[in-house]
Amino acid sequence: MSSRNRLKKLVLPSRISKPKLDLKQIAKTVIDKEASNEEDFECPLCFERMSPPFPRPLQRLIDALKKNEEAFNREQESKHKLLVQQSAEEGAFVAPLVLLKPGISENDQQVICRMHKVELVMKPLGKKRGYPAQVDFAAIDDRMKHFKQELVDVIEGKQESLFLTNALDVHKELGSVKARQATSMMNRFEETLPGYYGNRGSHYIMETLNEMFLKSNYLDKNKTKPLTPIEYAQQVLVPETGLRLIKQDFNLTNLQEASKVMKESSEYGSIVYSKIKKKE
Ligand SMILES: [Zn+2]
Repeated sequence: MSSRNRLKKLVLPSRISKPKLDLKQIAKTVIDKEASNEEDFECPLCFERMSPPFPRPLQRLIDALKKNEEAFNREQESKHKLLVQQSAEEGAFVAPLVLLKPGISENDQQVICRMHKVELVMKPLGKKRGYPAQVDFAAIDDRMKHFKQELVDVIEGKQESLFLTNALDVHKELGSVKARQATSMMNRFEETLPGYYGNRGSHYIMETLNEMFLKSNYLDKNKTKPLTPIEYAQQVLVPETGLRLIKQDFNLTNLQEASKVMKESSEYGSIVYSKIKKKE
């Protein structure tokens, strides 16, 4: 055997030497494959393993990742081949190719992780609990006009609001400076999320509140103190609106029942509708 051939043998990637596998090994490979299905998908962020069938959006994402990986593998293989050729001519040894996984940016990892949680956990959960599969965010504006008077009653103190009581309690307890610090703002934000309408819902509701009450200065400091008008809108009127939208969606008879649904669905909303899409 010439040195060239011997070297070639050394550098051959193991995949190409398949015909050398004996039956025992093949049987073992089959069993291994069954134990860990090649079609399985592992999240690059939380490492959860998932088996098909996948919902379509997730399948598309997995396909794109696979394509990317295959292209990256081909690139590595052709680079390695070239290296082998050059080294063989020089009589040098080249280590067998160990394929590296393509790097996935942190942002993409988060997109992937969120996607599988939304598609495989949150959406089925929402379906089971009866949350609307599609939320018509653009319709929120019109819907709010129908219960505008109820919001006015809250602002005028004619109707009690638990959200207002809570916001005032926080202010009393912490003082306005601390109440406005990032951590307590974050906590309040969770509590005032309009349930399954999520952050995107908050955004749409705020836009309408802005048109209804803020732009005209109807909602002024005198009505909202010690909160600012914006804080009042975010912490009191957004969740009050959420209650009413949910009450309508579920045909509930009172706001207490809607409040239960809103609390239960706020995690769902914060994951499924976490992003703000621009109005078309
Ligand atoms: Zn994940």
